[in-house]
Amino acid sequence: SIPLGFFGGIGAASRNGILVKGSNYLEALNDVKYVVFDKTGTLTKGTFRVTGSYPAAGFESGQLLNLAAHAELHSTHPIAESIRMAFNGSIDGSRVGEYNEISGHGTEAQVDGRAILAGNAKLMKKFNIAYENPQETGTIVHLAADGQYAGYLVISDEIKEDAAKAITSLKELGIRKTVMLTGDAKAVGDAVGRQLGVDEVHAELLPGNKVEEIEKLDAKKSSKEKIIFVGDGINDTPVLARADVGIAMGGLGSDAAIEAADIVIMTDEPSRVAAAIRIARRTRAIVW
Ligand code: ADP
Ligand code: MG
Repeated sequence: SIPLGFFGGIGAASRNGILVKGSNYLEALNDVKYVVFDKTGTLTKGTFRVTGSYPAAGFESGQLLNLAAHAELHSTHPIAESIRMAFNGSIDGSRVGEYNEISGHGTEAQVDGRAILAGNAKLMKKFNIAYENPQETGTIVHLAADGQYAGYLVISDEIKEDAAKAITSLKELGIRKTVMLTGDAKAVGDAVGRQLGVDEVHAELLPGNKVEEIEKLDAKKSSKEKIIFVGDGINDTPVLARADVGIAMGGLGSDAAIEAADIVIMTDEPSRVAAAIRIARRTRAIVW
């Protein structure tokens, strides 16, 4: 039977915007030593803005955004949405032919009969395109047309106001290590991690690599010590399932992430992770 105090704990959590799917997860929170966050949409707002355009020789700035907006027409990735928003013209779907999204890399699309690539350095390497090293820190979207490098766009995300508190409160609670995982470039990941005081940052990860990072951490610790993963995206579902306690951010989170999670934070505040641990500790004190 479930001790009554756990119902009180689940109720207290829900009054704080934290949906706990079972008393076992509330109990597990007491033994958490590692908290792993996804970056985009979890610690950052996940609403990107295009802040720079650097065309290569033979291309011009407006053309870069035009090509990118059309190449990204069918993508639902937040980066693609921000590119379409930044484009000051109407997107003509009849210019776009075959389209293919490459997970963790970017997109490949026919635009005006030309083969357009729009994505990160990994995508350029995959297609053997020599690309420029960016002069700015930000999420970089490189572009190529028919195998020729066309330049890059710089896209910036903002750190959530609440994110610093999320990390400091966990430290105050005696959490041994905070980790951030991201598919984004190392320079971006390191900059966000440094600003927030995250202990460890792993960048340029494909969705499968994020599961591997949890497994590596799992192998290093004792079985009693628990790992939380906090994420929001569709790609995060396997990671949410692999962690001892998977927490989805319900504010912006995808339905798949909410479904796969053990705990759902109903706001977009990552500091509620620390709040959940605090409630779990109080609940245990009452139950025993
Ligand atoms: P995160 O781990 O930050 O949630 P994702 O796994 O969704 O990121 O994507 C990883 C990286 O792949 C992005 O930072 C971006 O560089 C690139 N990428 C993915 N999809 C697209 C796209 N549609 N357009 C451009 N770049 C993309
Ligand atoms: Mg994500």
